[in-house]
Amino acid sequence: MSMKNYTHLINGEHVGGTSGRFGDVYNPSTGEVSAQVPLASQGEVENAIAAAEAAFPAWAATSVQQRARIMTKFTALLYKHQPELAELVSLEHGKVIEDAMGSVLRGIEVAEFACGIPHLQKGEFSDNVGGGIDIYSMRKPLGVVAGITPFNFPAMIPLWMAGMAIVTGNTVVLKPSEKDPGCPMRLAELFLEAGGPAGVLNVVNGDKVAVDTLLNDSRVKAVSFVGSTPIAQYVYETATRNGKRCQAMGGAKNHMLILPDADLEGVANALMGAAYGSAGERCMAISVGVCVGDEVADKLVELLTPRVKALKIGSSLEKNLEMGPLVTAQHREKVMNYIQMGVDEGADLVVDGRDFTLPGNENGYFLGGSLFDKVTKDMTTYQEEIFGPVLQLMRVQTFDEGLALASDHPYGNGTSIFTRNGAAARTYADKVEVGMVGINVPIPVPLAFHSFGGWKASAFGDHNQFGMEAVRFYTKVKTVTSRWTENAIAADFSIPTLK
Ligand code: NAD
Repeated sequence: MSMKNYTHLINGEHVGGTSGRFGDVYNPSTGEVSAQVPLASQGEVENAIAAAEAAFPAWAATSVQQRARIMTKFTALLYKHQPELAELVSLEHGKVIEDAMGSVLRGIEVAEFACGIPHLQKGEFSDNVGGGIDIYSMRKPLGVVAGITPFNFPAMIPLWMAGMAIVTGNTVVLKPSEKDPGCPMRLAELFLEAGGPAGVLNVVNGDKVAVDTLLNDSRVKAVSFVGSTPIAQYVYETATRNGKRCQAMGGAKNHMLILPDADLEGVANALMGAAYGSAGERCMAISVGVCVGDEVADKLVELLTPRVKALKIGSSLEKNLEMGPLVTAQHREKVMNYIQMGVDEGADLVVDGRDFTLPGNENGYFLGGSLFDKVTKDMTTYQEEIFGPVLQLMRVQTFDEGLALASDHPYGNGTSIFTRNGAAARTYADKVEVGMVGINVPIPVPLAFHSFGGWKASAFGDHNQFGMEAVRFYTKVKTVTSRWTENAIAADFSIPTLK
């Protein structure tokens, strides 16, 4: 395979990297370097910010209907190119092709939602609040906004951010993960093809240098970040200290509470997909199964063990597989270290995926599925995010104990409960200290017309991603109090009150 050389995309033009620093992009199924990505210097990022700043006045003044039309054309192109985008995701990330197709679709859905912006961005109006006085409010774009995205959803998360930021009238500098930059770059090219003006969506590839430039430049008015918790916290603290709006989504440890009345065959099916799909590299993966009662745990171990051992693992572009490789050798090493740590901490390793190799692809970053039983809450492997194909089962004796586990965990992204008891499910959804809850649904990622966001260490900031939450995040409210009257205006020395 010939090696690709990625560029930046600034003001509608591809520009080669000038920093002299490059990163390798791998095909995780083979371990080969498939591309080189330039790592931007401060000056290159500043060029992108300048392009976005220059494009802002005209784009903000473009009618909302026209912005929606460009978004509609963009959406049509995204559908047309969905297989190509999915192939890029699958090649550079390693998730299997059907899963990659689905992840692209979840991003397209946000672009589709964004097409309704003429309705969504409407202000408010109060008629005749005083003699001849009306009040109205508008939602104005912020200016240049930055999107900083993780490796695990290189189509979906850039579209969460760019789709909503652009359509509300902002201009964007996107800094995608340097591990799989191919798909985000293609998205920006398609936006240009859809008639998006130059400078409205810029892509700079890079690492901490690029991120720090975006966080410290006063021309950037808002930062949307998705990635690991330590970086999310750093981004949130730095951006807000510099007076920017910031939403920063972090890591996760998602619990599934399994009550004794649940259909355990269904639970096993749900756990297989939710724990091992995308090799566990999803912030909404279920990584902890909390079994109420030993009987539930014993039965699940019996059901899951042969299935985890038989996971269909292979090169990501092959069809009908269940799992591809992990994203990098370094990440696989990290996950393997966690598995060893789990053994050392005293958990039962029922299935050990560390020995897996794919004949013919010995250099790929493959791991088999691993299953732990009897994990306890004092274990580091329980407290930390593993982000790999590792499911940890825990045993509790009561519903309340299970509820407390999810609520007390530092992360609070997603959780689910499997039961036939509606009252228990309702109580769980009501009480659990987690941002997204599934009831007999293992991965409750809300659709584009709701919004996405966790609680606690899984998200810093005030607004969720996409949906109306994104319209609020990417706009500021201006409120006008207007008087048109034939009557004389009297002097009034007390604070105006409405009569
Ligand atoms: P990461 O934090 O390593 O990287 C995310 C982004 O931050 C990348 O663009 C990267 O270039 C940049 N970055 C990395 N180190 C930096 C540093 N020191 N200073 C400034 N910027 C830096 O995350 P990742 O490994 O790409 O993604 C996986 C993580 O993302 C997991 O923790 C996962 O749970 C999380 N995630 C969360 C959500 C969510 O919505 N909560 C969604 C997807 C992924």
